[in-house]
Amino acid sequence: MLLTILGTGSGGPFLGRNFTSQILRAGNDLFLLDCGEGTQMQLFRLGVRYDRLRHIFISHLHGDHVFGLVGLLTSFSLKNRTAPLALYSPPGLRELVETTFRVCGVRLSYRLDFNEVEADVSSRVFENAGLEVWTVPLRHRVPCTGWLFREKPRPRHMRGEMIEVYSIPYEKIPALKAGADLTLPDGRVIPNRELTTPSDPPRAYAFCSDTAFSEAVADMVRGVDLLYHEATFTSDEEEEAAFSFHSTAGQAAEIARRAGVGRLLLGHFSGRYQDLEQHLREARAVFDAADLAEEGGHYEV
Ligand SMILES: [Zn+2]
Ligand SMILES: [Zn+2]
Repeated sequence: MLLTILGTGSGGPFLGRNFTSQILRAGNDLFLLDCGEGTQMQLFRLGVRYDRLRHIFISHLHGDHVFGLVGLLTSFSLKNRTAPLALYSPPGLRELVETTFRVCGVRLSYRLDFNEVEADVSSRVFENAGLEVWTVPLRHRVPCTGWLFREKPRPRHMRGEMIEVYSIPYEKIPALKAGADLTLPDGRVIPNRELTTPSDPPRAYAFCSDTAFSEAVADMVRGVDLLYHEATFTSDEEEEAAFSFHSTAGQAAEIARRAGVGRLLLGHFSGRYQDLEQHLREARAVFDAADLAEEGGHYEV
């Protein structure tokens, strides 16, 4: 999986930062996470092939996460898109989109599928051959959910030379990759470990957009390879963070530490900070493998 950051800002406008949005690429699939104002400009600027986009996940209905969606959906239509598009969000998105389309007279050239999910329980909301997506209930002023992308276990690797040694027919290979032993025509059984090497471990990415510090989040994102966690404030604004149901950089790092994640990316920075060095310092004091998300940056999961 490869994550591309489109925006790291929050709240009002700030020169040099875009509103929250990210692209996660997993195999041939592209997933858009949140769609703040200006997201389609960022997609365009970064050359993302967004005709391949089939799924959009919206964490909550605050404007800095969703006000770019209606524009993006309309632009797809102007380009005569025909592929259906699935939307995942807490309740209310259908009303927002359909009302705007009705008032503005927008008729789409493609089908839109709304999947409004409960934001206060962890459940699986999407699955394909390669991965699953789970909700991660967050603590915010309105129903808000993060998204956990978890790859499914992958097949073991076949040892090419063994195919020749035992004249293994092609149709038997999927079962061997799944872990089966091989029975030869003379009745001998060759154990799987002689024929294959272990599969690559499945990877996981968690996106936690807007949330106050919540221990429950750490439980849900335990062990993920990459965690994006909002870090709107620094520690001197801890009261304001609690009041507005946001986190400080140190709190984001504490979640990463408790959850034992591989790496932490911080984002959703308040416009009051020109410079983000203190965010980084505070986070690294708690969890070493922390970085500031950079717009246009690519992060391997
Ligand atoms: Zn926000
Ligand atoms: Zn919010």
